[in-house]
Amino acid sequence: GSTTDAELVARERDTLAPKERRNGESFEFQAEVSRLMDIIINSLYSNKDIFLRELVSNASDALDKIRFLSLMDKTLLSDGKDAELDIHIKVDKKENVLSIRDNGVGMTKEDLIKNLGTVAKSGTSSFLDQIQSGGDLNLIGQFGVGFYSVYLIADYVEVISKQDDDKQYIWESSADGSFSISEDTENEPLGRGTDIRIHLKENAAEYAAEGKLRELVQKYCQFINFPIYLWVGKE
Ligand code: ADP
Ligand code: MG
Repeated sequence: GSTTDAELVARERDTLAPKERRNGESFEFQAEVSRLMDIIINSLYSNKDIFLRELVSNASDALDKIRFLSLMDKTLLSDGKDAELDIHIKVDKKENVLSIRDNGVGMTKEDLIKNLGTVAKSGTSSFLDQIQSGGDLNLIGQFGVGFYSVYLIADYVEVISKQDDDKQYIWESSADGSFSISEDTENEPLGRGTDIRIHLKENAAEYAAEGKLRELVQKYCQFINFPIYLWVGKE
């Protein structure tokens, strides 16, 4: 018969994931989330492009949320305070990092822990069932676990986030069963919002190319209601 994702995942990753680099507080992923991530990071699924749709749609949701909250609290988007809502996609070729940043609502430390790992969505196990019986990974967003598609192209991800009422935190994981959270004392303050730093897998180098990213933005982002800026640095 045909090869399913479930069969493909049994293969070992060909590169070692980078070690977690900070001494943050460590958390185990909820068991099904962990299984899902393991399948995704080891997947030979060819349509890896979908990660961009998922991350940009999360950025857009976060921007919608802050705009909605600002209807009740005008000070949230007053001048100088990230009043222009937008999305920045940036490549650091030296580091091999693709980043997607929004100045949306952001996540508190608690949000990062709950939303990105410890609390399973109702769709997690049905999505696992689907892909293990040969279903299409492309449907990931409909099951409420779209974020994890980032591990189609990443072997290590940092999520830097700042919500108005909390400090700036870093979530980081190599999809090895756990993630860690630390207060961010090293990066530039975001003001407000989220920056997803995608450390590209060796076989995902194409996602550092401007032409490829331009194509993906055209393909997946035409109905996004916020400006999207693309910046690709030199080698
Ligand atoms: P869904 O978008 O369907 O809820 P995801 O797996 O894509 O599922 O994202 C999980 C959750 O993580 C979101 O519901 C949101 O709470 C949080 N999240 C992800 N990306 C962002 C972001 N850029 N800004 C704020 N919150 C985010
Ligand atoms: Mg989503």
